[in-house]
This record gives sequence, C-alpha cells and structure tokens, in this order.
Amino acid sequence: MKLATGITVIKNGQLFDGTGAEPVPDGAVLIEDGIITFAGKAVDLPEVADDVEQIDACGGTIMPGLVEAHFHPTYFNVAALVDLDIKYPVEYVSILAACNAKLALECGYTSARSGGSLFNIDVWMKKGIEEDLIPGPRLAASGREICGAGGLMDWNPEFRQIGMEGLILLVNGPDEARSAVRTLVKDGVEWVKTYPTGDAAAPDANDHHTLCMTFEEMHAVVQTSHNHNIKVTGHCRATQGIINALRAGYDAIEHGSFMNDEALDLLLERDVAVVPALYFEQASIENGPAYGMPQSVIDGHQETLEGGAESARRILAAGGRLGMGGDFGFAWNPHGDYAKELEFFVNYVGLKPIDVIKCATKTGAELMDRDHELGTLEKGKLADVLVVPGNVLDDISLLQKRDQFITVMQGGFKRAGILS
Ligand SMILES: [Zn+2]
Repeated sequence: MKLATGITVIKNGQLFDGTGAEPVPDGAVLIEDGIITFAGKAVDLPEVADDVEQIDACGGTIMPGLVEAHFHPTYFNVAALVDLDIKYPVEYVSILAACNAKLALECGYTSARSGGSLFNIDVWMKKGIEEDLIPGPRLAASGREICGAGGLMDWNPEFRQIGMEGLILLVNGPDEARSAVRTLVKDGVEWVKTYPTGDAAAPDANDHHTLCMTFEEMHAVVQTSHNHNIKVTGHCRATQGIINALRAGYDAIEHGSFMNDEALDLLLERDVAVVPALYFEQASIENGPAYGMPQSVIDGHQETLEGGAESARRILAAGGRLGMGGDFGFAWNPHGDYAKELEFFVNYVGLKPIDVIKCATKTGAELMDRDHELGTLEKGKLADVLVVPGNVLDDISLLQKRDQFITVMQGGFKRAGILS
C-alpha cells in the first residue's frame, strides 16, 4: 500500500495512542510521508511550516485505526449457514467481499485479520488492497478453514455428494491435516484457521461442548504450519478444545468460550491472545428469531454468551490479551456493525473503554504480527489514524457513527470520513 507524501498535522483533540496510556487532553500528531513522526502534547509539537496540511479534530478523539481481528469478508450477511458455501459462485462472492472490505475501512477499521474465507478470496483481495486497486483494511489472510470430517462445518449430507469445497478443507486424521495445511501454504495464507470444536449455531451433531478435531490432527496442523512460518488459530468453544489447542501449540484462540483454570493457566503461560467475538451471540439471541432460529439454538447462544463473557473478564483481569472481532456477515449480525462489539464489551462484559480500545488497536496489530508498524500512534509507525468527534472514552458508541467520522487515514491518505 502506498504512503502519502507531504506533511500533515492533526490537532485540537484528545490523543488516545492505543498503548493503554491515559489520553492526552490537548494532543497532536505529526505525519511525514505517511509515517507518524510525533504523537503527544500539542505544546511539544515540532515546528512545521504554515502551509502544511492541518486537520482539525474539532475537540474530538485522535486514535489509531481499529483492527477487526475476526473478519469474514466473504460472509455476505447470509440468513442461513448453508448460504456461506453454495449460494453464489466465487466470482460474485469476490465482489461482495470487496464491498465488505470497503465498508470495514469506512467504519474506521484500517486493518483486519481474516477468520476464514470462501476459496482463496481473502488472499487475492489482500493483494488488490496492497496494490491500491480497491479500498479496504490491511489484511491478514487465512483462506479456507480446516475442519474434521463430520465436524461443525461439514454440513452437507453425503447423499448430496457436494462436499465443502469452497469454505472448508475436511480432514480425516493427521496425514490429511498436513495435506490440507500444505494446500493452504500454496494458496499463500498467513493464518490457518481450524475448527477444533462445535458451536451452538449448528447443534445437530456438534454443539458448543463437542470436539470436531482430534488432538493429533490439531498437532499435525501446527507442526506443518510452523514449518512454513504460518500461524494457527481455531474456533474453540468447548473447554477441552481450548486445552487441546494450547497444548498443540496454537498461536491464537478464537472465542475461548468455556475456559477453566487449567485452560487459563496454559493461555497465560504461552501468552496466546483470544478473540471472543461475543456480540455475535447477543445479536443471535436478539435478532435470530426473526430469521427462524430455533429456541434450542438461542439457548445455546445464551450459554455461550455467559461463558464467553466470564472467560473474557478472567483473561483480561489475569493479564492476558483479547482481540476485538465480531464474526460479522450474518443477516442478524451484518457487516458495518463492527464497533458494536466494542460497546458490548463495555456495557455487557463490563470492561473499561480504555482497555477495550487497546484490545481493538494494539492487540489487533499484535495478532496480525504487525505491531511494529500498526496499532498505536507512536513515532515511526504507519499513519493509520481515526479521528472521531466527541470523547470515545466517555461514549464508545461514537465509534459506530461512521457518517460523522472526521477522517479514516491509512498511511497518511484520507480514505474515508467527512474530510476524504
Ligand atoms: Zn468466524
């Protein structure tokens, strides 16, 4: 992705740098050729020429661009799970995914980590974004996901003879798990996403307390991925699935719904980040019935929500790390609502706004393995900056009002917001 040229000053706002430090009431950011060269108190701002570009934050908040840490660009607000794989051909889903990427950027998400994609769309979309062909967040791609045969994502009955070619690589045993990883290596993914456990969303054979992969399969995925310097994560709700993933060497955990003491100790010992994606549960409970979601599924989401909220609180309180991402892309939890996850963590889970925003910026960048250049407003980092009217630490729902954003900046370019 190109960097802007020239000098820009952003001032007249409270600076929240994303490191977890207290905000600076009268802050300023200096950007030179797309890189931050100063972020701090306005009185300490180095002298610049009068004719450089000035952005007035209007007394609002100057903060790092957000990171969607569990982004499904190819989920096109489907009303039924099966539509994720077979409703449209890959050509059309690629277009829908590009629209979702543009929307995410307009929502202030300057980076996103894919949580799985139809075919290899996210890998190629990343190339299109990096080459400035289409607007979107800086991406970490994961392509197709790996699930044990008969697991959560293997939903087509045998008599249909259609498999799960688009969304999932189904595996039976460690050899097939290795083979699936090697396919993904050739595809060019950065993360391998797996399904160690089931989910309340599809409770027929695999609910939120069941396992969909063996430890041996998971370990084979990790070994092979790590040989190629690729990271591994997994949809882990059931306690034993979380423990298996941590023992197998997973680099991140998605959901981490039902953590017990053993799982938490392992997590902290290995300093593995968790992306809970909790608002999805709430949205399913609230909006699912309108889409025909059965009560048994709603009940499962309620149990997952309560377990997940408690696990998230315990992880952060014990010094662990959480990424903010929301599994958006279902009719009841559509793209564009990303920042509802942040408000939910403040209002329902009970975390402090300053902690939630750090999770959504700094930890997100760490999950993308790009914290040396993204995620905080510090000297030397890429100028991925979000300027929002009002104080987001007082009212985190301001991050949902994209039509009021002053600017969404990537590498010093104003990509969205009123000034773009
Ligand atoms: Zn997901």
